[in-house]
Amino acid sequence: MPATGQCECGSFIYTLDSEPKTIVICHCKHCQRQSGSAFGMSMVLTANQFNILKGTLSSFSRATDAGGTMLCYFCPDCGTRIYHQKEGEEGIVILKPGTLDDADANCPDRQLWTSVKQDWISLPDVEALEKQ
Ligand SMILES: [Zn+2]
Ligand SMILES: [Zn+2]
Repeated sequence: MPATGQCECGSFIYTLDSEPKTIVICHCKHCQRQSGSAFGMSMVLTANQFNILKGTLSSFSRATDAGGTMLCYFCPDCGTRIYHQKEGEEGIVILKPGTLDDADANCPDRQLWTSVKQDWISLPDVEALEKQ
């Protein structure tokens, strides 16, 4: 820290000025679809840790399994998801840490929803929770 990150096309650039609260892997189907990959990663930050250097994001919302609303922010030019926020918890930013320029420090603290993970994945060194 400080760290910088950006979307795939470079229209949106941000900085983080301090360490995240936690980093998790999520195997749920929403995260598989959103990432187009085997699982999603989330870096949990307070909103004041996240600073926009360049660009403006677009957003859409979706229902969460718990009955709330998730606001999902992405680059309008290239579609890269940058972060999401739960409605009513605007003080928390849930960043997609693969968008950081240097992602080597993105070691996850735990993995969620292993009950629905893809069968071929085994991450025995990461604490696993069957659900959230
Ligand atoms: Zn972009
Ligand atoms: Zn998920």
